[in-house]
Amino acid sequence: MTVKDKVILVTGANRGIGLNILQRLDIDGYTVIGTSRSDDGADLISQQIKSSNGIGLKMDVTDQDSINSAISKIQDGFGTIYGLVNNAGITEDNLLMRMSDEQWLSVIETNLTSLYRVTKSIVKDMMKARQGRIINVGSIVGLMGNAGQSNYSASKSGLLGFTKSLARELSSRNINVNSISPGFIDTDMTNSLSNEQIDKLTKNIPLGRIAESSEVSSVVSFLLSQDSSYITGENINVNGGLYM
Ligand code: NAP
Repeated sequence: MTVKDKVILVTGANRGIGLNILQRLDIDGYTVIGTSRSDDGADLISQQIKSSNGIGLKMDVTDQDSINSAISKIQDGFGTIYGLVNNAGITEDNLLMRMSDEQWLSVIETNLTSLYRVTKSIVKDMMKARQGRIINVGSIVGLMGNAGQSNYSASKSGLLGFTKSLARELSSRNINVNSISPGFIDTDMTNSLSNEQIDKLTKNIPLGRIAESSEVSSVVSFLLSQDSSYITGENINVNGGLYM
């Protein structure tokens, strides 16, 4: 199977880390499908695919009908998915005592239940193909916690358990399942931080800076490649040493 024959699905690919992953996998030569919640986002993704095959599609990771519709289009148009990158995610920060049910549930639905929904929708075909890679984008906060992010932290800690359990379930089918836990990456998600907050934060990061999305994408590229064939059930930290 050539790289071009490998179909990779990246969720939340219209901006931030997901868009950068899409661009990197496009350069690597994969057939790459990116998803967005909106039609405009899907169009933007299609325009970003320059060197290989692929398309942008609309998909809300919290809506099973929307997932089913996108997955059917991929399977009909491109065949079995070789690699799934569960990247879509949100934050809804608040101290627990002030957190609303809506804030709790939306983060758990988007960051954790989505893994169950999207992965379950593609895994049967992947198992039949007896090959594949699943990469879940977690967070440093799932490992160390963060005040004001109990919902986000719980979702990302849950992602680690999900990853390891699935790695055990799928290993006999030659499917590797891993997670990446980024630290602070320069995207819309961290744009709300003031310069003062960033200065304070970077003082605690051994590498002394926040990261570019490409520093996460390169790890995704590695985990999809043959170079990582013996790695499964693993979490790779991309955090500049902030948590070690
Ligand atoms: P971002 O710039 O805010 O982008 C989030 C992406 O997820 C967007 O494409 C967004 O689509 C999509 N998304 C959100 N809810 C969705 C839903 N219900 N269905 C489908 N797509 C949805 O975030 P980012 O910084 O790139 O983060 C990407 C991943 O990395 C997330 O899982 C995040 O938790 C993780 N992460 C980020 C950082 C960081 O410092 N940035 C650190 C650690 C982990 P729309 O454009 O439609 O909203």
